[in-house]
Formats: sequence, structure tokens, C-alpha cells
Amino acid sequence: MATTANKDYYGTLGVKRTATQEEIRKAFRKAARKYHPDVNPGDKKAEEKFKEISEANDVLSDEKKRKVYDQLGFYSDQIDPAQAEAYARQQQGGGGIPVDFGGFDFSGFQGGGGAAGAGQSGWGSFKDIFSGIFSGQQQQHQPRGPQPGTDLEYQATIDFWSAIRGGNARIQVHRQETCPTCHGQAHTGGPMTCPECNGTGQVTQMGGRMKFNIPCPRCGGSGRVTSECATCHGQGTVSRTETVEFRIKAGTRDGQRIRLAGKGNAGVNGGPAGDLYVIVRTGTNPVFTRVGDDIQVTVPVTVPEASLGAKVEVPTIDGRAQLKIPPGTQNGQKLRLRERGVESASHAGQRGDQIVTVQVVVPTLNDERSREIMRELAKLNATDPREGLFEKAGTRD
Ligand SMILES: [Zn+2]
Ligand SMILES: [Zn+2]
Repeated sequence: MATTANKDYYGTLGVKRTATQEEIRKAFRKAARKYHPDVNPGDKKAEEKFKEISEANDVLSDEKKRKVYDQLGFYSDQIDPAQAEAYARQQQGGGGIPVDFGGFDFSGFQGGGGAAGAGQSGWGSFKDIFSGIFSGQQQQHQPRGPQPGTDLEYQATIDFWSAIRGGNARIQVHRQETCPTCHGQAHTGGPMTCPECNGTGQVTQMGGRMKFNIPCPRCGGSGRVTSECATCHGQGTVSRTETVEFRIKAGTRDGQRIRLAGKGNAGVNGGPAGDLYVIVRTGTNPVFTRVGDDIQVTVPVTVPEASLGAKVEVPTIDGRAQLKIPPGTQNGQKLRLRERGVESASHAGQRGDQIVTVQVVVPTLNDERSREIMRELAKLNATDPREGLFEKAGTRD
């Protein structure tokens, strides 16, 4: 139930009272971007501010609500726009005649001639009255239909191997569960006559010189209430921290979203439960790097292996595998082991590749004989690896 005391919605959004819908929309977007809880995690002040601007936007962006707000200085969906209109007219006329506008009885209002002055005191009274009687309780006493539970989203970090091979994972989830005492009914007894209005469904409130007959906030105007469940305080749900276990498919990727149907917050009054979404974060491995379904690995080889070609053993996610290094392989060259990557979680029977980056390890020569051989080798293979480099660079020398 959105009931608001006299708040300066125009001020909150930083727009003039004459602002167009477009100006209001822009102002809200700008403020929302700044104060959105996603941008300010854990910042209570920003959260409050975001609520305020959302509320201001909710009223001002709706022409009907805005009109009521402009006329009364506050907005409540308890108020019939026609009543607000009549009240505004009454104010301008300034008469002291008791007028009863259906739900609202303005009989105590004696505005005299000074419409503006009387109006001001009127606003104050409205504010006091509504903040007094509409705070809180309303919701739990009003009869409600089935409401679906909200969805939840959690992150779960699973280790590198579980993501590749699949397995079970568990997370702690804080969720709203159907109350075990009232089974979500929110009440345990009744219905009985509402003690607030004695069953009339209406209450009278005095505010300054005005008297209001308004629907009873306790029973919502029905005149009857049920006794609230003590376990859930009439909410129908209770908070619980629960361990939820779920299955990780082989080949699950980082950032993947798993939907666990019905594991979100419980619904109210027989409404269905929401879903739980788990965003999977996969762990890393000191040797393997996962890129989608491919596995990347850097393998050191000696100069003779790279130069002459060789068969070397490399690690794969299945264990050791033979890799053929072709003669004349260069440092940084990439070699592919087809279908030695990760089994696809989305396409059964498909696998990614393993991509091996060759890292040539240059020997440190500690004896004269080796250095002699290296020099001889250089003489026999007198190529210049920097040939063309300067021309390509376009330097002037
Ligand atoms: Zn309960
Ligand atoms: Zn009542």
C-alpha cells in the first residue's frame, strides 16, 4: 500500500512543478543510474535515495496520480481522484460548509475566506493523519489473493575439475519459505469482528479542523479480521537459510546460469514459489586455461626439439598425450590437439580442442665445447632473422 506523507516529489527528482512527462522521465533515469543499488552495493543511503526517487517517479510519471498529488500535496491509492478534485474545489471556494465526499468527510473544515492559509493547515493535517494510520499494518490484514514468490539469484564457485567433469555442488540460500504453522495462510483463527472499527469497516480521524471517515486500515474496510499467525506475524512466509544441492553438468562454463525451479521464495496464499538462479563461477588451474570448450596450455620444448622436430608428452585434461612438434617449430607457435578439450555441456558428443603454445627454451652453454658447436652451427646457417625489419619499420637510417 503506497501511502505517502507530504513529500516534495518534484524536489526529489529535481524538476519544476510544470515539468513535462519527458522531463520527469529523463530526471528519473539520470537519478536512477546514480543511485541504483546495483551501482552502490551495500550503500544504505543510496538505497534509501533510490526508493525515494522511485516513489516520486511512480507518482509523477502517472498523470492521474500526479493530479491527485498536485491537488492534495500527497498521494495515496486509497484516494479516489474524484474526491481529490472535489476537495481541491472546496478549498478554492473556501466555504465553511460541512461537506461529506463519500469516504472523506470534511465537515470539520472551516476554511473561512483565506483559501491559501487554510489549505496549508489542511496539508499538515492530512500528513499527520495518513502517516499515523496507514503506517505498516495495512498489508497483513487486507485479504490478498495468491501471490507468486520472487526469484532468487546466487553465485556459486565450483572448482576447475568439477566444471569439466560435472558433479554436485551446494550453496547456502537465504529464502522465504511457506510458514510451517499456518501453511502460508497468514492467520490461524477467525474471522472475527475487527476491534479497530467494531465491524463497521470505517474509522473517523480528526486532523486539526478536519474530520475524515476513511476505510478501516486494520480490516481494509471489511469489518472482519483474522487472528494473525504468531510464527510468521501474518506474512505467510518465514525466512530460512537452507543448503541447496544441485547438479553441475560436465562442461559447465564460467558465468553459466542454472535454473532451479521452485527453489526461490515461497508464494503467499497458495501462489507458486519463485525460481532460484545459480550463476556458476568456475575455478582456475595452474596449467590449463579454459576458453569456452577449448583448453590452452603452454609447453616448453628444447631448441633441438623445436629445430629437428620431436614427439613430446603434454598434459591434457584426460592425462598425458603425445604431441608431434614439426621440424622448425618457432617459439609461440600454436599446435592443436583436436577434440582433447572440454566436453560440450550444450551439444552432446562434442568436444573442444586443446591448443598448445610452444615455448622454446634456449640452453645456457657452460662449456667451451658446446659454445664451439653453437658457433659452428651459426656459421653453417648464416641467416639474418632481422632481415627486412628496418625497412618495414620505415626508419630513416
Ligand atoms: Zn504463519
Ligand atoms: Zn476494521
